[in-house]
Amino acid sequence: MKSDFSGIQTLAEEIKETFQEARTFQVWVSFYPYRGLKHTIRLRQGTIFIRLSDRMNGAPPEVYRALFVILFAKLFRYRIDAGWRRLYADYVARLEQPATASPPADLSRYQSAGRYYDLDPLFDVLNRDFFSGKLPKPHLGWSRNNSTTRLGFYDADRKLIVVSQNLDGRKVPAYVVRYILYHEMLHVAIPVERVNGRRRIHPPHFKALEQAYPDYERARQWLQKHFRKRGWRLF
Ligand SMILES: [Zn+2]
Repeated sequence: MKSDFSGIQTLAEEIKETFQEARTFQVWVSFYPYRGLKHTIRLRQGTIFIRLSDRMNGAPPEVYRALFVILFAKLFRYRIDAGWRRLYADYVARLEQPATASPPADLSRYQSAGRYYDLDPLFDVLNRDFFSGKLPKPHLGWSRNNSTTRLGFYDADRKLIVVSQNLDGRKVPAYVVRYILYHEMLHVAIPVERVNGRRRIHPPHFKALEQAYPDYERARQWLQKHFRKRGWRLF
């Protein structure tokens, strides 16, 4: 997203008005292809020149606001409020985060097509039947290990649903795989709730929807029969 330049100029003028010493001056904002994230502010012949690094392109308005406050405060030697500093610093930290923060290569280790079941078409059918086709598709894959205690989980940060490889078997009924996938899809639809500082990953309306799933009883009975001793769980 490119920043709207006239909006940025207007924002600088607004911030200028909040600094008494600056009010009599014009302000002029321009972008500059600085190599780093560097900005300058100078007062010359009745005009305040602000040069911003073009790496600010696409920054949200509140980040510009913070940056202008910081620059005007520097020019007129005001103390800079910690809140503005933090807002700007957070933006810089995000910008400078290496692109490997959420590596797609990592996700490619998880394949939706297993030996017996392919999670991808199963997702589409469940999405159509229970979510009006509106659920965004996360990355889908079979676990790389044979975990029996964790039969499925959803990683919201990586947008990833993983089903235990144990369930990709000839003897595992399709309705069991579908139920587990459905459970994880509910996590995509229903974010984790925080109640008094505690995380509730399966809030009451989650459980209600899960129990309304047509194969709920049948699938859990099968899982109890085959995985009970191994303490199966869904996450
Ligand atoms: Zn769960």
